[in-house]
Amino acid sequence: MNEAIAAIRDDFPVLSRSVGDEPLVYLDNAATTQTPKQVYDVFEEFYGTYNANVHRGIHTLSHEASVAYEEAHDRLAAFVGASGGREEMVFTKNTTEGINLVAYGVGLNELGPGDNVVTTEMEHHASLVTWQQVAKRTGAEIRYVRVDDDGQLDMDHAADLIDDDTKLLSVVHVSNVLGTVNPVAELAEMAHERDALVFVDGAQAVPNRRVDVEAIDADFYAFSGHKMAGPTGIGCLYGKKHLLEEMEPFLYGGEMIRHVTYEDSTWNRPPWKFEAGTPPIAEGIALAAAADYLEEVGMDFVEERENELAQYALERLGEREDVEVYGPPAGEPRSGLVAFNLDGIHGHDLSALLDERGIAVRAGDHCTQPLHDRLDIPGSVRASFYVYNTKAEIDALLDAVDAARDELD
Ligand code: PLP
Repeated sequence: MNEAIAAIRDDFPVLSRSVGDEPLVYLDNAATTQTPKQVYDVFEEFYGTYNANVHRGIHTLSHEASVAYEEAHDRLAAFVGASGGREEMVFTKNTTEGINLVAYGVGLNELGPGDNVVTTEMEHHASLVTWQQVAKRTGAEIRYVRVDDDGQLDMDHAADLIDDDTKLLSVVHVSNVLGTVNPVAELAEMAHERDALVFVDGAQAVPNRRVDVEAIDADFYAFSGHKMAGPTGIGCLYGKKHLLEEMEPFLYGGEMIRHVTYEDSTWNRPPWKFEAGTPPIAEGIALAAAADYLEEVGMDFVEERENELAQYALERLGEREDVEVYGPPAGEPRSGLVAFNLDGIHGHDLSALLDERGIAVRAGDHCTQPLHDRLDIPGSVRASFYVYNTKAEIDALLDAVDAARDELD
């Protein structure tokens, strides 16, 4: 292991724990990444020195908490290239809530019969189910861009589906099963030519590569803290300032209002208009620390590292004739995850045996049942990497897969 990786691993004490008698090999990063000390120390500092509600008090603690929480919005905006700062960065609970915020704010209010939403066959349930419900409730049509056998979107099909009745394009930036990196800027251009809005699900992209929402020209872009070395319970929704200003709020209550009478109420400015009630204050500040941490490691380094690990895993899995791997083949660009099946062995059995060897992977449909139907498989095993993983851990995975084959045959 090189020194840089060893130093990074030292920031994540959990990586040196054991599972039973085996050292932990954590390869479930697409579900949730581990959290470095620099991030969880924020909780001790917050609760130990300035825990208070934000925007409500004029006492010192409330002021300190408010400033840190507001600045965290600026930090996350800068992290994804949003030049409008906090006014374009809404804190949510997670990616799912970001999608629902747009579904309620735009989808339910602006779609109707005759309109359509274009999305893809590789969406996570967080987005697929949400747009399906919006379509049902509004009478709009939902259209799916096909995924080809190499796990890439069929761009000709996308061009056919996006038409003058398309009101919204919703696309996942990086697939959580195939690892495909979608050409989101190209798709956004196609949608904008038809005056459709563009929502991008960045849950698997922001943690793993440098994302620039303005270069993509996304109207909305959502991601989660817990997949980018941050805490659970916090996510982000980027939205273009004028769209957030025009959009209806999603939740009503305190913090999101400007003026209230018995008859009516007016709304605060974004992002507070979309953050009703007491927000996840410590989580937001800790997420800014996660952005600082990743910036310090270097997002280009994170991307390079993940690509290297994914290519190595593909190569090693490819040596086995009874292993089927999904998504772009070796050599093609992809993110740091690999979903596969071992012939004749159920994914849950395989992952239980891997766990006995301290190896954490995920088995199942990964919240993409329709994509698994499309691939004609009931489920898959997914190994997903982060910047702290090593080739030795991938070797341990492969040894364990081979041992499982012998044991279960
Ligand atoms: N979209 C994608 C592509 C994901 O991988 C995930 C999580 O696995 C989500 C959305 C939902 O994220 P969360 O559960 O944090 O809302």
